[in-house]
Formats: sequence, C-alpha cells, structure tokens
Amino acid sequence: MIPYGRQDVSDDDIAAVVATLRSACLTQGPEVPAFEEAVAAYAGASHAVAVNSATSALHIACLALGLGPGDWLWTTPITFVASANCARYCGAGVDFVDIDPVTRNLSVAALADKFARAEREGRLPKLLVAVHLCGDPCDMAAIHALAQRHGCRVIEDASHAIGARYRGEPVGACRYSDVTVFSFHPVKIITSAEGGMALTHDAALAERMRRLRSHGITRDPAAMAQAPEGDWWYEQVELGFNYRMTDVHAALGRSQLRRLDSYVGAREARAARYDEALAGLPLRMPHRDARDRSALHLYVVEVADGAPIGRAALFAGLRERGIGVNVHYIPVHWQPYYQALGFRRGDFPQAERYYAQAVSLPMYAMLTEAQQSHVVAALHALLDPAGAVPVDTARQACALAA
Ligand SMILES: *Cc1c(COP(=O)(O)O)cnc(C)c1O
Repeated sequence: MIPYGRQDVSDDDIAAVVATLRSACLTQGPEVPAFEEAVAAYAGASHAVAVNSATSALHIACLALGLGPGDWLWTTPITFVASANCARYCGAGVDFVDIDPVTRNLSVAALADKFARAEREGRLPKLLVAVHLCGDPCDMAAIHALAQRHGCRVIEDASHAIGARYRGEPVGACRYSDVTVFSFHPVKIITSAEGGMALTHDAALAERMRRLRSHGITRDPAAMAQAPEGDWWYEQVELGFNYRMTDVHAALGRSQLRRLDSYVGAREARAARYDEALAGLPLRMPHRDARDRSALHLYVVEVADGAPIGRAALFAGLRERGIGVNVHYIPVHWQPYYQALGFRRGDFPQAERYYAQAVSLPMYAMLTEAQQSHVVAALHALLDPAGAVPVDTARQACALAA
C-alpha cells in the first residue's frame, strides 16, 4: 500500500540518535535546547519550548495564555481534534468558525461575522486557534487584525506547516500570533517520532510554558514563595505536567530539521506533478497563494459535483488499487464527544460539504515517480474511464505492477 504520508529517516538521523543514546543524558541534556534554538532560529521566533507532542504544546500554550473555565476558544471544524481539545483540557468551551471553500482554512468573513455577533451577545472568545490546513497558511494578517479588535489572543496550529512561508516570512515567526505550535509526528513534515514545539516572542509566556511542561516546578529563586534552604531546593508553584521531550527525540528532530527545506521542495515537485497530471479531471484542486509557500503536508482533492463517482467510491477504488488515501478531516463537531456538547450536523455547512468530497492523495518527500504515476493512472481510470490515460503514466503503472 502506498501510504498518504510517511517519514524519511536517514543514516545521519540514526547516527544522531545513537550518539545521544551513548551519551550521559537521555533526557534533560543538551539536545533539547539545541533543537529549540535551531527551530527558533529557522522560524524567526525569540523562544521555543519543546514538548512531547503538539497536543501538549497546544495545552500549555492555552494555559499560559490564561484560558480557563468560563472562557471560549474558537477554531476551525476541519482540523485534527487536538486543535479543539486543548480548550477542554483547560475547562474552557469550544466553538467553531466555518471554513472558506477555496482555501479550506477558517473563513475570515465568517470570523468577522461571528466576532460581531459574539460582541453583541457578550460572548467573545479569549483564544482563536488558526490551523494552517495542509500546510497552506491562513490569512494571518486579517485574522490577527480581527482578533486584536476583539481582545482575542491567537495561537497558530502549524502542525502541518513547518517550512511554510506567509508573506515572505517563515510560519513560526509569530508576527500575527502569540504562539505558534509545530508537530513532529512521523506523518508531518519533519519528525522526532513524537514531539511538538511552541514558539513565541514573549519571554514570560515561554517561561510559563517551560514551567508547565515540567510539573509547574521552578528552580529560579526569584519565582519562589519561600527562601531556598540550599542548592537542592525547588518549588512547585502551580500544577504542571510531564510534557518534556527526551534528548533522543530532540536529536532526531534536529537532524531532520537540516533537510526541512529540501523536504518541502520535494513536496512542491510532487504537487506540481499532480497539478498537471490531474488537470481536466472532475476534481477541485488544492489552494496555494502565490504570495506564500505551502509546506504541502497534505494534497487534498475534492470530488466535483459532476464527477462519475462520489468520494466514497473514489476512496474505495483507490484503496483497492493499493493507494492508502485518507480523509482530512471528519468535521470535529461531528465527533460524539462534541455532539454531546450540543453541536449538530449542519452547523458548519462549508466544512461539511468539503468533508463529503475530500480525499488526501499520497504526498511525502520520498514518494517515487513510479508510485505517483500509479496514483495518477488510478485517478484517471476511476474518474475518466472513457478518457485516455497519459501514455507514460500507463507504462509506468504497468512497470510498477509487474
Ligand atoms: C497532528 C496534529 C496535531 C497533533 O499533533 P501531535 O504532535 O500528534 O500531538 C494537532 N493539530 C493538527 C492540525 C495536527 O495535524
């Protein structure tokens, strides 16, 4: 089965991990700060806090921004559940902003309307989580301007978007947000096996997130309530967690980071090939803004209304042909947990229409030309049975099957 995404682990990565395994510190050693510094430098943020997943990063970012019971967090319904769950961990409520059918990110127009209504009803959110779906940056300048006008803080869930650029700057530069979060899960752009990071320009926020990732413990006498009794003294000043990243994971992540730009370049080449080879099929193609750079974590096509088969049949047909397509995402408000909170099917019609037609095609740096040709040929066979499959594509698919 050709997967929809997969990691690439090089000999250098393995050597970096082995060197850490042979070192004195498997955790809380030099690799985590080195990885943090490297990511902060890459993205142009002042501070970076590494944790054991992007989910943990979202959680401590929400806490550090003061989210709690009685507050509201808004996000898009087309995302992984973690973008919304982080509010629930803090005891806050979640609401969703419908998507823009072209960009598939949360709609700036819908956000403006929802802010205006919330302002009238006295129910403004404390936090907005903007998700760069598929690695294609949200219109952060517009989102930030609206959020500022309504006293709302902003987190960028850039789990798909390390390596992306927005208006000439790396995603993670935090020009239009308080915190940006990256994920290093193996299916994402670069991996630390499991891992995440929260970036910010705000030193106090970074300090708070560092404390929360390690039990709420401080070793800084200035932050203590009592006089230290000796060098062994530490204080737990609030309730935190063990969300630390290990040095073994950081070594892998830092080694992978060196190839980030070449990975995104490889994804761009594969996307350009899909763009060209699938043109003319009844598919709505992914959005990319010429001013920005998508990290192309996912390549999602939507089956057009007039297509000979629908999404379910296309999905099944591709899986039958050994192509591990997927769907990103089932709208979060359709999940039983969120239905129990009062959400209903029909609440966010653009998100639901997108979901009903979306299929994520294989997209990763190491996807081979032969594999991609097989995917293209299968899409032509399923969506344009009468049409001619491009000759080289047909030949390569045969070679692959042989
Ligand atoms: C993968 C993902 C997460 C969670 O990342 P983990 O590192 O697995 O916790 C959060 N948000 C989005 C949009 C994701 O794709």
